[in-house]
Amino acid sequence: MLTKSSTEMVRQQNSVLVLSSLRRHGPLAHTDIAATTGLASATVSAITADLERTGALERHEQHVSGGRGRPRVLFARKRDHRYLITVRISSDTLQYSLADYTGTLIDRFDEPRDEAGPSTAQFVAAFREAVLRLMRRSGLDADRIAAISISSKGLVDPDGSRLLWSPVFGYEEIDFSAALALPPSMRVRLNNETPLVAQALARRADRDGDAPFRSLAALSLGHSIGLGVARRGASGDIEVSAPNFGHMLNAADGKLCRCGSRGCIEASAGFYGILRTAFEVPPDTIPAKFVPLAEMDKIALRARQGHRMSEYAFRQAGLAIGQGLSRMLSLFGDMPVAIAGHGTRYMDLLSRGLEEGLQQSLHVRIYGTPKITVVADEATLVFEGHVERALAEIDHDVAGLRVEEAQA
Ligand SMILES: [Zn+2]
Repeated sequence: MLTKSSTEMVRQQNSVLVLSSLRRHGPLAHTDIAATTGLASATVSAITADLERTGALERHEQHVSGGRGRPRVLFARKRDHRYLITVRISSDTLQYSLADYTGTLIDRFDEPRDEAGPSTAQFVAAFREAVLRLMRRSGLDADRIAAISISSKGLVDPDGSRLLWSPVFGYEEIDFSAALALPPSMRVRLNNETPLVAQALARRADRDGDAPFRSLAALSLGHSIGLGVARRGASGDIEVSAPNFGHMLNAADGKLCRCGSRGCIEASAGFYGILRTAFEVPPDTIPAKFVPLAEMDKIALRARQGHRMSEYAFRQAGLAIGQGLSRMLSLFGDMPVAIAGHGTRYMDLLSRGLEEGLQQSLHVRIYGTPKITVVADEATLVFEGHVERALAEIDHDVAGLRVEEAQA
């Protein structure tokens, strides 16, 4: 049978609702599942029974202290039902993490990335070996790992596993799914990094905020400049997009960017752009591939001591970011902006230019400066974004499998 009947489709969608509710809220009683999903009590009973039978859910008994009668039954995602691996590719390290079906981190290690850059083939081989090592350490068979979620800076094919352009590999395209040659049961997904930060922040705001979540932008400052926009879609779900902010044409100033274009935001605001201005290097000089943080700290220290060109370099960087953000707000509408990444340690030097860049647009003069916050620990947010996206996909498989089993 090629098509699923509409009843089966509805059951599948309802199962996804129950699974995602337990993912976001943790263990819930029957009545709380009905309240958070809006499903009828009988539907919740049928779905939890099915998901328990297939091993996706388990029940815990909660004894109410001092209470009489039966203990309260809570439903929870079964931790060992599926696992996922997340890999964060940064400019200097690769971080490999293993998480269970509740999204809890189980194991993690970091590997330094060769700054000079090994060949792509060597990189992929080392990557594959690290993934296999993570599985060996946990004693898990390949078929228990449902997804490998990878993130990188750069341009990513939106629905797959292809890296189209990155600061590390340039235009050398990598299809991780094909290159890693792992069992087909492991779904390999590649994400642009900053949208994962936006996803995690949106989820937190939705869970903890006083008002319903509407939209936010996450901006990452560092060697590269990334942007992710999270908005509540028409369906009620949080939708995340990755506008190509860092390489958006910002000014006809002739500053050469790593991507080969001139005048990108990154050519002014990326670490190499700041370094180039501070040292009065001609703007068409091919940018450094990697600027150590210690080098940036030295320029920042000089700027704080009043060195004119260093101060100017940070101000120009802030200006490019502010102008870029004002264009983003003109296109997407007003929204708060969260800034993450190593570059946030220079906010004192960037903020004047940033404010100036924002104020140059009519949108900001009318609607006011957006609420800007600095968020620490980008790595945690990236991990949360990975888990959120990967588990949402895995839940669709789990719900779908259940239907197919029932048909068999
Ligand atoms: Zn560029």
